[in-house]
Amino acid sequence: MELLLYNTMTRCKERFEPILPPQVGLYTCGPTVYNYAHIGNLRTYIFSDILKRVLQYNGYEVRHIMNITDVGHLTGDRDMGEDKLEKGARSEGKSAWEIAEFYTQAFKKDIRRLNILEPTVWCKATETIPDQIALIQTLETKGYTYRTSDGIYFDTSRFKDYTKLSHQDLEALQEGARVERNPEKRNATDFALWKFSPPQVQRQMEWESPWGVGFPGWHIECSAMSMRYLGKLLDIHCGGTDHVDVHHTNEIAQSEAATGRKFFNYWMHGAFLIIAGGKKMAKSEGNFLTLESTVATQRIDPLAFRFAAFQTHYRKPMEYGDEAIAAAQNGLQHLRNQTRALMDAGAPSAVDAEYRGKFLQAINNDLNIPQALAVVQDMLKSDLPTDVKLATLFDYDRVLGLELKKSGADQDLPAEIQAMVEARQRARKEKQWALSDQLRDRIQALGYVVQDGPQGMKVFKP
Ligand code: AMP
Ligand code: ZN
Repeated sequence: MELLLYNTMTRCKERFEPILPPQVGLYTCGPTVYNYAHIGNLRTYIFSDILKRVLQYNGYEVRHIMNITDVGHLTGDRDMGEDKLEKGARSEGKSAWEIAEFYTQAFKKDIRRLNILEPTVWCKATETIPDQIALIQTLETKGYTYRTSDGIYFDTSRFKDYTKLSHQDLEALQEGARVERNPEKRNATDFALWKFSPPQVQRQMEWESPWGVGFPGWHIECSAMSMRYLGKLLDIHCGGTDHVDVHHTNEIAQSEAATGRKFFNYWMHGAFLIIAGGKKMAKSEGNFLTLESTVATQRIDPLAFRFAAFQTHYRKPMEYGDEAIAAAQNGLQHLRNQTRALMDAGAPSAVDAEYRGKFLQAINNDLNIPQALAVVQDMLKSDLPTDVKLATLFDYDRVLGLELKKSGADQDLPAEIQAMVEARQRARKEKQWALSDQLRDRIQALGYVVQDGPQGMKVFKP
């Protein structure tokens, strides 16, 4: 069945055709590690995880690259302001390297909790500086660069079709970009490829280069890493929608200028997670929630946030609210209960071809997960035998990633409940029946179901 994906470049849903099937190259712009990821960022990574799983479900072998931006991302969008890592390091009293390492590990923990598949390659901007310098040298040789007092810039007027991804009016854009104008730039949209370390300030992260000591501009890292780790497999490049106008536009300009060839065939962007009043959740706005805080305050399983993200198509803004999160927790729990009931009835058998087809039709229509969830419920309500239902459900979960196979076991119970469950297991082993009954009553009083069966005790939220 054909797979349709919306390409920001053409503003159309297009039939997906990889360059070298069955392989597919996928590049996801990774986090800037000067703070925790917020649940908006994580929504974008859930989107790219679904994209990857859908490609795999369609039989492709996905080579997935995700970078870690640990240098060069400045506080202003157009090469003005301070390096976010150096600023973060100062305010936390740590080194920029320590900050980067700490938040990289925190990010990896978040994505594990959301059951987001790890990329084939994780790569850091700071580990590919020679590649970035080589790419800038190529651009210099081809006459696309110029020098100012603070760095080496890309001359966007020399690149035809600079706005082909953003579809913006170039004149209006030049006018708008002037707000942050650096008077030495030839065009307001020009961007830094290499920035010199400021003379009065000792930077923590800096490197020698043919142009002087300094650090790379933000955009060049993703071009260099895509080329290094994907080679010819420049199939899909994705990120959040805010990357369209500047970051991805600049990546395309510098990459195509350097190689003379098309840089990625498909550009895909996830819409924002917004909060009440329609405001974008952003690290720089300080209005953000981490996964950790959401899980703790809403008392949810982290996968309930993944399930919440499934309720909105990835190209539509997702409104965050406490009720939506609570509804997602209930929805996920309901699905787990349905799975558990099927598991109790027996082992999975063969996947139903008709329902597999319906599911595939939804996900292959530009990753329509809300529609796919409706198919899941239709299938569960159908008169298929339970063993076929279970096999079909587990097959769907290759895309959904809700760990439904674990529904039979005690799932992510809050620590206090887990402790009581373990105490009750010990009590039963030691035949302390009165204590075991007491513990059962206490767990039930906290709103959980306790079932004792031949396979042992099951505890879950009804
Ligand atoms: P950053 O760590 O700022 O480089 O952003 C990491 C990813 O999150 C990028 O792909 C951004 O486009 C995306 N992003 C930033 N804010 C939001 C938001 N509120 N909702 C969804 N994605 C976002
Ligand atoms: Zn990027």
